[in-house]
Amino acid sequence: MADRVRKPEWLKVQFGANERYTETKRIVDVHCLHTICSSGRCPNIGECWGKGTATFMIGGEICTRSCKFCNTKTGRPLALNADEPTNVAKSIALMKLKHAVITSVDRDDLPDLGAGHWARTITEVKHINPETTIEVLIPDFQGRVELIDCIIEAHPDIISHNMETVRRISPLVRSAANYDTSLQVIKHIAQSGTKSKSGIMVGLGETIEEVEELMDDLLAVNCEILTIGQYLQPTHKHYPVSEYITPQQFAAYKATGLNKGFKIVESAPLVRSSYHAEKHI
Ligand code: SF4
Ligand code: SF4
Repeated sequence: MADRVRKPEWLKVQFGANERYTETKRIVDVHCLHTICSSGRCPNIGECWGKGTATFMIGGEICTRSCKFCNTKTGRPLALNADEPTNVAKSIALMKLKHAVITSVDRDDLPDLGAGHWARTITEVKHINPETTIEVLIPDFQGRVELIDCIIEAHPDIISHNMETVRRISPLVRSAANYDTSLQVIKHIAQSGTKSKSGIMVGLGETIEEVEELMDDLLAVNCEILTIGQYLQPTHKHYPVSEYITPQQFAAYKATGLNKGFKIVESAPLVRSSYHAEKHI
């Protein structure tokens, strides 16, 4: 398995905490917030936090699902923190973010699956930070359009929902989520006129043809922005890396995606859906 061999040079990241990194961490900690940067063990944390950007994870830190590639805690979540929307909004103000990215755990335990909490967070962020653009990376809300509408009606600038992987591998690694439901979620976002975005990991054993088929599926539902990055196994208990995709193949995916019709394709080993997200506005 590729995860037993050494990581290639292009995946080695220098981690150097600067003052801005320390300040970002302090703001996150003081407001008792969670970020996918740390819970997902993102390799870009030094760079992003060092520039004062982070991706907030709302709804608590425990997910009701347990995807085989994801390092987020899983189990029975705690009650929602009613202060979280305001705390996220205040943190964005303190960080002076021009573009804020927010995601969440899945809250299949709640009657509205967390959609109301999402809408309150977006509204509060806009209220305290009227100049900041907002990108939200949402769960599938079990495909319930009335819940996706709660997010759309809060008017974030970009709504993203990740396909995560190609059709064949999706049921092997995603917990509860379904390839076609995810496509329907993106279709509904695009139909609303909101900018739509999706992301996948590669290196899970997919073929080039399967990635191209996924691109066609996303374009058929009018997805505008696609991100492609290398899957990295968070711990030895997670799904193994099948292959380290070369930078050349990432460049080829970018060219193919743009040729096929995406407005923006970010494709490189360390790309994550929120990496350099401010460029997508
Ligand atoms: Fe956080 Fe996204 Fe940057 Fe990773 S790429 S550190 S998740 S903002
Ligand atoms: Fe992770 Fe899956 Fe939960 Fe998303 S739904 S936070 S990918 S376990």
